Amino acid sequence: MSANDRPVLLRNGLVLTMDDSHTVLPGGDVLVAGDRIVEVGHRLDAPGDALEIDASGGIVMPGMIDTHRHMWQTAMRGYGADWTLTQYFVWYYLESGKLFRPEDVHAGNLLSAIEAIDAGVTTSVDWSHGLQSADHADAAVDALESVPGRFVLAYGNIQQGPWEWSTSEAFHDFYRRRVDGGKLAGFQLAFDVTGDPAFPEKAAFEVARELGVSVTTHAGVWGATNDEGIRLMYENGFMAPGTVYVHAATLGADSYHRIAATGGSVSVSTESEQSAGQGYPPTFQLRDYGIPVSLSMDTSVWWSGDLFTAMRTTLSADRVREHLEAHGRQETVTHHKLRAEQVVEWGTRGGARALGMDSQVGALTPGRRADIVLIKNDASPAMSPILNPYGHVVYQAQRGDVHTVLVGGRLVKHEGRLLGVDLAAARAKVAATVDHLRETLGEEAWQRGMNPDIPETSVLENPYQYTEYDAGSAQWKH
Ligand SMILES: [Zn+2]
Repeated sequence: MSANDRPVLLRNGLVLTMDDSHTVLPGGDVLVAGDRIVEVGHRLDAPGDALEIDASGGIVMPGMIDTHRHMWQTAMRGYGADWTLTQYFVWYYLESGKLFRPEDVHAGNLLSAIEAIDAGVTTSVDWSHGLQSADHADAAVDALESVPGRFVLAYGNIQQGPWEWSTSEAFHDFYRRRVDGGKLAGFQLAFDVTGDPAFPEKAAFEVARELGVSVTTHAGVWGATNDEGIRLMYENGFMAPGTVYVHAATLGADSYHRIAATGGSVSVSTESEQSAGQGYPPTFQLRDYGIPVSLSMDTSVWWSGDLFTAMRTTLSADRVREHLEAHGRQETVTHHKLRAEQVVEWGTRGGARALGMDSQVGALTPGRRADIVLIKNDASPAMSPILNPYGHVVYQAQRGDVHTVLVGGRLVKHEGRLLGVDLAAARAKVAATVDHLRETLGEEAWQRGMNPDIPETSVLENPYQYTEYDAGSAQWKH
């Protein structure tokens, strides 16, 4: 990735370093040269040719890291807003996922990659389980390589068993051509473990071990994956440091202990878990078991694609759970256990650790890659005062406040505008994909897919009767 020719100095911002002691510098500067952070401090001397960026009134923080996003599904943004996991599985796994051509995977990935850097998500894991052929995989990587962000490809294919695609010649040829020595920031194998006692996934784990790459797996997803999958992984020796367990929302104590003991981490997608039915967002349990957490947005076919929302929903879901459980015991929570600071850590260093990239990204310290976000919006009433910086990031700021983004020292967004990306071209490609799918499915199936049946509901009978008001007709009686 080419850096800017000139050094960059972010001047006089509220700097959240997310270093080991979570140093916060009010009125702080960050100096970048080449692809690295050179210095963090106060009133730094700027090299004569430095580009100075006025960060006053803003928050400077590390680029955010998303450890699980099905980027190809961004082509269908918002289509599944009213889905449950059941409708998702039917639409993508059983019925329509196979209709995606290589150019459709390319289109979704391209728009998603641009969306990520626009929102200050400088590293994303593309949990790419629509790779039906080597052409699809090439298209996915072509898109990622054309956008100046940091992308980890998590290779998957829901149209085949992982023991099939991971052992195919086409996959290994792709790996040699595009991954080994390529431009990707990392590579994982992405597949789920169903709990079949024959453990057919074993072959795919062996491929991961042979290649020296990590596995990312949807684990503890209600109705899909459970403790049996974890037990099989553990007993066969495939729970390794670097394994990322996505959701992990419906597992028993033994599975959580096994994840903690083997150095794994959990990617929590709160907005997803809250609405699709995987289980309750599990941070309230992961904290008890000492399991490291990273954050993710899962898929824009339902939800938003920014980490502000992930941090906000995760903090809130954890607190809701704490309050509700206390109320069940007739108790009152007077002090929250989980703080805004912790979820900012999960959205930055938590992701870096989960991906084995903690020495490179996730914090603003000299020597690390310069993946930096400036949150600043002088036109927004919500950007002042900034009193509690972590709380401001989590509950006040949003993607529209992302003023400047650097990835590896390269300015990819400045003064609210993306640099060096062709958003119009990405939009046109996605429009072509939507046309293709809509025409192939036909209008009736297209509408039916987007609008699942609503279960019958009725309003409870109300024991309180008022003579003057009729709730049934919403009329006052005369
Ligand atoms: Zn997922």
